[in-house]
Amino acid sequence: MPVKPPPVRPRTHDLAAASAAGRAALGWLHTARFLTTAAQLHQLPPLDVPEIAFVGRSNAGKSTAINTLTQQTQLAFASKKPGRTQHINLFALGRQGQMDAVLTDLPGYGYAAVPQADKQRWQRVMANYLVTRPNLTGVVMLCDPRHGLKELDETLLEVIRPRVEQGLQFLVLLTKADKLNRGEQAKALSIARLQVGGGEAMLFSAHTRQGVEQAALWLRALAGAASPSAGGQG
Ligand code: GDP
Repeated sequence: MPVKPPPVRPRTHDLAAASAAGRAALGWLHTARFLTTAAQLHQLPPLDVPEIAFVGRSNAGKSTAINTLTQQTQLAFASKKPGRTQHINLFALGRQGQMDAVLTDLPGYGYAAVPQADKQRWQRVMANYLVTRPNLTGVVMLCDPRHGLKELDETLLEVIRPRVEQGLQFLVLLTKADKLNRGEQAKALSIARLQVGGGEAMLFSAHTRQGVEQAALWLRALAGAASPSAGGQG
């Protein structure tokens, strides 16, 4: 009779290493600072560092997720100041004044109170950004799993699909996971995984910090893959 191998248990030093990497990733994200804001695509500066865009329906939890990941209480809420809500806001990342990568906060879409003409203009700006921005390396889509991916999210997925096929990294963060029980979380995650095709999906909660370290590691790995100084120690 074949002998059953013993179950594999994570060793203590593996767990310590995992959280050390998580801490390093969060430390790196904490260097985020406001870089610039632009109302139109052509006003964005050309950059030669990896750029990771955060997108999502209004109220999906995007600002809270950016603030939680960067451990800064106000960073993304600056994007909600009057006059900036329909702007593309860039945040620089990197230690000692270096810029290893950029986080782009794209305006939330789907807000009912916005006039139709503005909505359409913004959808065009966003689609153009996602299709043409040369240094765009990753897209993080924030989604409230109680509502699931909506039509505009699906449209955006279609827009970026050709770039995902060419290597653009894509992550769906299922926000406010604390509002779901374990069964609901598992179900939301498996549905999202089916929907994202070549991308990834993770559960995330700013309240319980579920998924915060995992998302930080994903972001850092993405920037590190393209920029050696971001991928190094510390
Ligand atoms: P945005 O419009 O996508 O930037 O969304 P916000 O970050 O402003 O969040 C929208 C609402 O969801 C706010 O009332 C937040 O307090 C709430 N929210 C955001 N993240 C979480 C979370 O992880 N858990 C819970 N329970 N509520 C959250």
